[in-house]
Amino acid sequence: MGETERGELESRVYVTFYCANGHATRCPFAQDAEIPQEWDCPRCGLPTNQDPDNPPPPPRIEPYKTHLAYVKERRSDEDGAQILQEALDALRKRPSF
Ligand SMILES: [Zn+2]
Repeated sequence: MGETERGELESRVYVTFYCANGHATRCPFAQDAEIPQEWDCPRCGLPTNQDPDNPPPPPRIEPYKTHLAYVKERRSDEDGAQILQEALDALRKRPSF
């Protein structure tokens, strides 16, 4: 009794979470902490669990090209809006005679 503080460091529990991409993430938990059943992989964001042989499948399979195309499309929209805004600003700043 009265020695609980000393044991704090040793009372860590290490839990390894596995994702479908084969990443293993080792997380320290306090012994009395509630250990989550699932954890987002910090390397790829996929869901993980504690079963190396049967990690959870990716939630959705999205082809990379589609995502990239979406980002490109979006970026060009933003660029277009910015170019328009800059043009309008330039127009307003132009001295009038
Ligand atoms: Zn991963």
